[in-house]
Amino acid sequence: MEKIIRHLKNSEHVLVTSHVNPDGDAIGSLLAMGLSLDALGKKTTFYNKSKIPTVYRFLPYLERIVSKIEGRNREFDTVIVLDCGNLQRVGDLFQSPNLFLRFPVIINIDHHITNTYFGDLQLIDTTACATAEIVYRLIREMAVPVDKAIATCIYTGIFTDTGSFRFSNTNKAAFEICNEMVSVGVDPYNVAKNVYGTYSLGRIKLLNMALDSIELSYNGKLSMMTVTRRMLDETGTQPEDVDGLIHYARRIQNVKIAVLLQEYRNEGKTSDTSPKSKKIGGKKKFHVSLRSDGTVDVATIAADFGGGGHHTAAGFNTESSISDLKNRIFNLMFDV
Ligand code: AMP
Ligand code: MN
Ligand code: MN
Repeated sequence: MEKIIRHLKNSEHVLVTSHVNPDGDAIGSLLAMGLSLDALGKKTTFYNKSKIPTVYRFLPYLERIVSKIEGRNREFDTVIVLDCGNLQRVGDLFQSPNLFLRFPVIINIDHHITNTYFGDLQLIDTTACATAEIVYRLIREMAVPVDKAIATCIYTGIFTDTGSFRFSNTNKAAFEICNEMVSVGVDPYNVAKNVYGTYSLGRIKLLNMALDSIELSYNGKLSMMTVTRRMLDETGTQPEDVDGLIHYARRIQNVKIAVLLQEYRNEGKTSDTSPKSKKIGGKKKFHVSLRSDGTVDVATIAADFGGGGHHTAAGFNTESSISDLKNRIFNLMFDV
């Protein structure tokens, strides 16, 4: 951590970024880190490739996050990559030619068990409940005062990544830090209201279709939910409306692994790797989400498919026909 702090203090222009299709931790960590660098007097660019989901639009200084880096604003000496197990999770930023005229130092701050230790400096703690927990510690170490805006971002990162303090990553630090953030002025009800507030009618109809799609493996230990592009089109919903649907599949009695197959459209879950969603010989592109009850390590399964994540929540992207994909996943049950 000392090395990172020394490097940041000597940096001039820092790019702060997090993973595509961001969740509350990716956005909360990005804003908290960026605002702290602002407080240190650094020139800071906040970047995320994807559209920010509506539920996170209440976060302070959200307008600082850009999805394109243009013109002269391209010279960074440092890039901080947050909440990403590997560099591809940022999207195609690092593939753009001539983007980094000064060949910056990459700092990798994350809590995924599958982190590849990319970059030049790493701050990785797989026991942290959220990247926001690590960012909080870094901010404290840098002696940046935590104001209400930074506190709201840290609180939201921890609150959402722990599933409101319900998931297995919920630790002592989650409560301690959130308690402190509330004393700085965060309103827990306001955060919860924004994050879990109201659903559009389309989202409720999508939930109906998603529930209807659930299939169980022969032994009842794996549940599979499928969300197609057509379902999104028919209900007028966006990929962000799919967030959280997998929990219904996870909650079924005796289920150890829940799987969500999400077919994506152009702006979908995996627009980071390939911009066009084309059918090639019946093959379609999917984002696959995996959740376990804690008895099965889904991070390893996701890694076998080229993705990653945590012990109980992981994901990967793939291109396959739907029947092949289902067969491959149902076959996993022979090993469980
Ligand atoms: P999701 O199913 O997209 O909500 O993701 C669950 C967890 O798996 C998150 O911690 C993600 O960071 C991780 N994850 C999802 N997709 C990928 C991927 N393609 N590569 C690496 N990690 C992923
Ligand atoms: Mn995340
Ligand atoms: Mn996270």
